[in-house]
Amino acid sequence: MNLARFARRRYTAGATAIEPMPHLSKVLGGAELFIKRDDQLGLTAGGNKTRKLEFLVAEALARGADTLITVGAVQSNHCRLTLAAAIREGLKCRLVLEQRVAGSYDKAASGNNFLFDLLGVESVTVVNAGDDLQATMEKVAADLVAEGRQGYIIPGGGSNALGALGYVACAEEILAQSFAMGIAFDRIVVASGSAGTHSGLVAGLIGNSAGIPVTGINVRRPRAEQEGNVHKLAVAAAELAGVGPAIPREAIECRDEWVGPGYSLPTAEMIEAVRLFAAHEGVLLDPVYTGKAAAGLVGLVRSGEIAAGERVLFVHTGGAPALYAYQPILTGAVPV
Ligand SMILES: *Cc1c(COP(=O)(O)O)cnc(C)c1O
Repeated sequence: MNLARFARRRYTAGATAIEPMPHLSKVLGGAELFIKRDDQLGLTAGGNKTRKLEFLVAEALARGADTLITVGAVQSNHCRLTLAAAIREGLKCRLVLEQRVAGSYDKAASGNNFLFDLLGVESVTVVNAGDDLQATMEKVAADLVAEGRQGYIIPGGGSNALGALGYVACAEEILAQSFAMGIAFDRIVVASGSAGTHSGLVAGLIGNSAGIPVTGINVRRPRAEQEGNVHKLAVAAAELAGVGPAIPREAIECRDEWVGPGYSLPTAEMIEAVRLFAAHEGVLLDPVYTGKAAAGLVGLVRSGEIAAGERVLFVHTGGAPALYAYQPILTGAVPV
């Protein structure tokens, strides 16, 4: 595997930190917990999409695009970061926002939605769950062509094989840091959504024969469906990256016990996890992804499924701007 063969823009100076979480580890009383600070990646307010966009935007530029087009939920971190990458590159950005929860789009909403406006999005098209997202983005691209411009369509979450290379690279970064720190991790825990992050990590770890299992915590889909999605994308990313060993289906584990009533809908466990990370480590999680992933981590430590003494790396994939759109729920002013 040689990722230097791929065109890449750089949006983060150096590696993101891996930090111990001694206080939280003590409070939970089992595993030794560490955190990979991908919430501190470059571009506006950071988060995992920055790594994927380094490869995707390089391709957009190579193709001569002047506008990035992508899709996400109404509080999408991916849309915020795609817009931020466009600004960095001197491009325009048009967004398609999907109301995964009926009626959830509010033009005046805080969080990432506010940032879409502040960062100067060129247009927002709102669609409903079940609408054809690809067709909507292609329509946006056709409109641009009619104006003599050229769009580049980035899939939801930046999750195709090229985007997933960002997390193949992250796996290599983690292994190098782990070696330098003299800490061998027994497991990695990460949120699993559009699957690019989870599948890229798995492909990169297997490509390096690392022997570190990844536990994905679902934020939307049932287990079997998500495992199928992650496996398919891990195979595609591995093929693109030139990973030798096949990706076995058993290497993909996606847990769905912490999804709750649905994507972006709060749970008591999410609120507890957000409060635990803030109070004991000063780390801000988000309500949609990392709060639920951390709820899974906490649950697995408490149940003993993550054994006492295990060294676990939790990948913080970002998302804190959405926190402020959920303030009444996180303070308990509005019950879940
Ligand atoms: C998109 C996102 C995820 C999920 O990553 P995928 O690659 O889509 O699975 C996790 N955390 C945050 C904060 C995100 O924005």
